[in-house]
Amino acid sequence: MEKIDLHIHSSLSSDAAPSFEEIFRKLKKEGVTKGALTNHIPEPPGHVWYGDCGAVKKLKKQRDRLEDKYGIRVLVGAEIDVINNNGALALPDAVVSEFEIVISGVHRYPTLMRPLPNGESMHYGPAEYYAVSEGVLRNPLVTVLAHPVWAFDKLFPESMQKQANAWFPEIYKREIMRIASEEGKAVELNADEIWRMDDAWFEFGRQYGNTWSIGSDAHKLQFVGCVDVCYEAVKKYGIRKLISV
Ligand SMILES: [Zn+2]
Ligand SMILES: [Zn+2]
Repeated sequence: MEKIDLHIHSSLSSDAAPSFEEIFRKLKKEGVTKGALTNHIPEPPGHVWYGDCGAVKKLKKQRDRLEDKYGIRVLVGAEIDVINNNGALALPDAVVSEFEIVISGVHRYPTLMRPLPNGESMHYGPAEYYAVSEGVLRNPLVTVLAHPVWAFDKLFPESMQKQANAWFPEIYKREIMRIASEEGKAVELNADEIWRMDDAWFEFGRQYGNTWSIGSDAHKLQFVGCVDVCYEAVKKYGIRKLISV
């Protein structure tokens, strides 16, 4: 099975360090044959790397040169925030279309303050989480639903976050997997959060014949290409369909 890492942040992201070339070198060392650069959009002023004329084109040129040198394929993509429950992304469609892979998942809640007072997180939080996830899956420009559980516990006060993943309603897990399948979207096995995903995600994945993506979500060079934990899940759950990009 080909080793892929389709979620990598470079120094273009305000919270990440590695250069584009360091990423290539590390992927090669880890035996990854296909990667994807997926820097954050949006970014605070001073870190905006996208959107000016030709930014994505320039990146692709740089990539072409590095691909020739290292002999591995790396897509020029982005991890773009979703800004409402209908799956609108924080970038005009014309610019989004320039990317070779677009990943998006829940980072923030467009309509919720969090954590909610008086335990209301429990009632409204999961519904909002689900609504944002469905929006992402319904957007035709999105390729991969990133880290499907990552932001869920952040709905709750810190003291409750450790237990919170267990409160992710089963019906929302099922609907996320069902709609991902219906929309032809891959769901990400994210090395950084795979511990949050219980058997139910994989059972629904099998039931709906889902396609999965794999990503380290590396922000530091040492984690680029570190996706073994994802492939352990592939083996454990007998996953056959990995994204082909
Ligand atoms: Zn993310
Ligand atoms: Zn990320």
